[in-house]
Order: sequence, then C-alpha cells, then structure tokens
Amino acid sequence: MIMKILHGLLIAQCMISAAVFGQQPWASPKSRRLLQQTLADCLAPSGARLVYPTDSDYESARGHVYNHRYLYNPAVFVFSTTTAHVQSAVQCAVQLNLGIAPRSGGHSYEDYSLGGRDGIIVVDLEGLNAVTLDSGSGIASVGGGTRLGPLKLALWEQGQVTIPSGTCPSVGVGGHSLGGGWGFVARKWGLMADSLVAAELVTANGTLVTASASQNSDLLFALKGAGANSFGIVTTFFFTTYAVSDAVTYFNYDYGGNSSADDQALTLRAFQAWGAGATKDVSASLFQAPSGGNFFWGVFLGRKADLKGALQTFFDGAPVPSYGTTTELEVDYIRSVVINAGFAESDPISVLSLQDFTYESRFFKSKSIFVKGAGWPEAGIQAYVSALRQGPSFGQQSGAYMIMDLFGGGDSVINSVPSASTGFVHRDSLYSIQMFTYWDGPQDDTADISWIQGIWNTVRPYSSAEAYQNYIDSDMPVSAYYASNLDALKAVKRRWDPSNIFNFPKSIPLN
Ligand SMILES: Cc1cc2nc3c(=O)[nH]c(=O)nc-3n(C[C@H](O)[C@H](O)[C@H](O)COP(=O)(O)OP(=O)(O)OC[C@H]3O[C@@H](n4cnc5c(N)ncnc54)[C@H](O)[C@@H]3O)c2cc1C
Repeated sequence: MIMKILHGLLIAQCMISAAVFGQQPWASPKSRRLLQQTLADCLAPSGARLVYPTDSDYESARGHVYNHRYLYNPAVFVFSTTTAHVQSAVQCAVQLNLGIAPRSGGHSYEDYSLGGRDGIIVVDLEGLNAVTLDSGSGIASVGGGTRLGPLKLALWEQGQVTIPSGTCPSVGVGGHSLGGGWGFVARKWGLMADSLVAAELVTANGTLVTASASQNSDLLFALKGAGANSFGIVTTFFFTTYAVSDAVTYFNYDYGGNSSADDQALTLRAFQAWGAGATKDVSASLFQAPSGGNFFWGVFLGRKADLKGALQTFFDGAPVPSYGTTTELEVDYIRSVVINAGFAESDPISVLSLQDFTYESRFFKSKSIFVKGAGWPEAGIQAYVSALRQGPSFGQQSGAYMIMDLFGGGDSVINSVPSASTGFVHRDSLYSIQMFTYWDGPQDDTADISWIQGIWNTVRPYSSAEAYQNYIDSDMPVSAYYASNLDALKAVKRRWDPSNIFNFPKSIPLN
C-alpha cells in the first residue's frame, strides 16, 4: 500500500515537473529558481559534482568550450566520473522533461555540447578518461571524456600503438570519433570512427547498453560517424589499435607566407593532381590564407629517403621555390604527434598529457564542403583563389584560412569503406575543406561572416552538397552531413530514442 502511494506521488511529481518545465523553464528568474531546486532534488542523490548558474564556478564551467561565440546557459553541469552519474542525469532529464547534452572535449564548432539552447542539463565527461590497452586483442577501452593528446600518449606508453584521429590534443574522443575523426594516419587506417568496434552508452531510458557487431549492431552503425548526441551518451569506447613502432616522416613545405594568387592556384592544382593517386602511406593537408599563406604538410608512414618518391607528382606540379622552407623529419610516431599538435619539436612527449595546457578559446565561424572526383576544374580553382584573396588577413587575433584535408584518392582506406555501412557517409570525396574565420569578440564580425558564406557559395558549384559533421555549421541542413544514410539513421533513432531526448539543432531527427 505504502509503495503504491509512493509510486502515485512520483508519477504526480513527474506530471507537475513536465507541466512546469516542459514550457519555459528558463523564462524568468522565478522559474529558474524553481528549476534549480527541482534539479537539485533529482540529481544530488547521485553524488556527482553539480554546478548551477548561482555558483561561483558556473562561468568557468560554461566557458570551457572552444568557440566563445555562443555561450548558452545550461541549467546545471553534471561533472560525471561514473556511469551512474550519467544515468542519473539522463533519468532526471526524462523525468523533468529537460534537454540534455554530453560534453567530451567541448570543441564543437557551434558549442553544441552546451546543447544549442539555454536551460538544459550538460553532462561533462572529462572525469571519464581512463585508457586501457588489452595487449592480447589490441583493443583499447577509452573513457568518453578522454582528450586526443592524453589518449595518444597513453597508447604509445602502453604498447606503441595508436588510433587514427585528429591533431589537436584537447579535442575530445566523444564528439570527434562520433562524427568521423580525420588525422594524419587516416588514409592508411581510416577515420577514428572506423576503428570503433564497440561502445557502452546510456540510452534514453537510462540503461547502459552495449553496441557492437553482435549486440545492437544498428546502434554501432549509427555511432560510427553520426553518433553525436542523437542516440545516447557514450561512456566507454572500444577501438582497434595499430602498431606505430616504426619511424615515420613528418613533412612541411612552406611556399611562403606571401604567396601570390597564381602560386596558391599552383599548389592547389598540384594537391589535387597528386592526391588523386596518392599512396595511403601519406596523409596530408594544404593550408591557404587570404594574405598568401600557402603550405603543404603531413605524415608519411615510411623513411625520409622514400618521401620524395611518394610526393613526386606534387613537386612536378609545384616545386618549392627558393624562398620557401622545407622541413622533413624522420621521427618516432609519437614525436610526429607532438609536432602536429602544435608543440615544439624539442618539447617532451609528456606535453600531450595537457596537464599545463590551456587552449585558446576563440570567436569564430567555420564552414566545410567535400570535393569529389578529380577535384575542381580550372574555373573552380580560379573562382576560389579570387574569393580567398578578399578575406581577412591571417593574424593572431583575427583572420581566416582554408585547410584542405585529403580523404580519398589513390588507395585511401577511408574510401574503401562502403558508404552505407557506417554513419559516416562521405566515402567518395577527394578532400574536405575546412573554412575558418575568427575575430576578437564578443561582437560578431559581420564582414568576416559574410565573406566565409560568400566563398562557400563561390565553390559550391564545383563541389558536392555534402559537408563534414565534425566541422558542424548551424547554416547547413542535416542532410548535408548524412546524405543517403539519413533514412537508415532515422530508423535507428526511432528505435532507441523515440521521444527524442537526445537532440540539438543538428541531431538525427525522428522523421
Ligand atoms: C582546435 C580544433 C582542432 C580540430 N582538429 C580536427 C582534426 O584534426 N580532425 C577532425 O576530424 N576534426 C577536428 N576538429 C573538429 C572536432 O573533431 C569536432 O569539433 C568534434 O566534435 C569535437 O569533439 P569534442 O568531444 O571535443 O566536442 P564536444 O563539443 O564535447 O562534442 C561535440 C558533439 O558531440 C556530442 N558528444 C560529445 N561526447 C559525446 C558522447 N560521449 N556521447 C554522445 N555524444 C557526445 C556533444 O553533445 C556535441 O553535440 C577540430 C576542432 C577544433 C576546435
């Protein structure tokens, strides 16, 4: 009888909460106070550290994201160090009818780990950062809030292995792997998502579920490239690892910071021609800036003596001029990671642990586009270069740049994966372009923003309609990110999150 009354009270409380908070929980100071009290009642028993808007550390908790353009106002941060903390947060979100977003590294280009709106529960995963390599299977288990720098360092120390992934050491494994994850061994071993063999995630009913090839394989399909805050919160990832005990060669050919428009066109032409047939042993990018920045860099999984042969087609099209700079370093794999992470060549590899690392948050706008086939025709290259040259100068506080990352071409493993077999659909591109402009905030630089939209419009006729979900952009439709996989992803969504608990402006919709 007592149980029955208690059960009835709980249901009544849920109904009141839904009625109150389903409307505008963030609308007035009074409703915010009520929300905070109700959240405290629901979340405090879990024992997680909670930070509310009235707490003195709220600003630092909120500001711990890379783009400071949109600092949304969460109703609470749940600093989770256990799976139970995450489960409790999901259960409270459901019970109180509130939005919820996990935050791994906080590097979403649109601050979507703050949910893309005010008044939600943000589940910070930084405390879930254990990395354990099973030397027998070569599978690494990785906590959902681990950053890429500490991850690569731990894998190197535990067995001189790695998981292909991006360059920035403070990026989180959560958003990065769930959206693809391109880095400097990707053409050899695929995207980070391609190495994902299993995951444990808290789903919409608060239970911990395993996604693997043999259990809930539809979820694994979705997580491999389309998993950011759409199906659940991944607490532990399991990845295949690759041996990197042999030396590699880091290279950087700088064509001069003041390259002419003709020279920028020349290197882009060479990048396309070389990239179309490039060996998978090289992963590389081309950087170009409006003021003439123009360099080509990457990693060759081979000896320095063999590098020139692997890049010959590039140099046939664009020889490095006498005023340019050539850097070719045969180093341990982990040293190439240190250099690509932006540290000095002489820094100890322990810098990857990020213990004394504070990343520089920015005010910025980014866009992306995939280029397919053999790349742009000459008309596209000319249109691009002329639009590029009209952008803001590249500098410390403000500026703009383009980075072309080679995804396909030659025998790239990225494009050997069938596009319908994982959530990451873009398997037939030659390269992606990341377009980036940043300024001294907090006011938007409207000239920069309209320039970046303009250059995207200029190159669109020569490119695909697809864009890279890890360079997420509030202006793009969800279909640009998931294309022909979108219907299959919606079906997974309907099965695992029929009430759309996990949502943000670019999440997988139900229909
Ligand atoms: C400086 C910088 C360098 C970058 N370099 C590269 C690069 O080399 N290659 C590349 O491919 N990309 C790169 N990126 C893009 C990066 O991959 C994406 O921004 C990625 O989403 C960041 O992941 P995060 O965990 O740090 O971000 P977050 O902001 O924490 O998360 C991003 C999204 O994923 C969701 N999410 C996070 N964790 C989980 C989880 N455990 N379960 C479910 N959903 C989750 C969040 O809610 C949010 O919607 C870079 C970004 C920056 C800012």
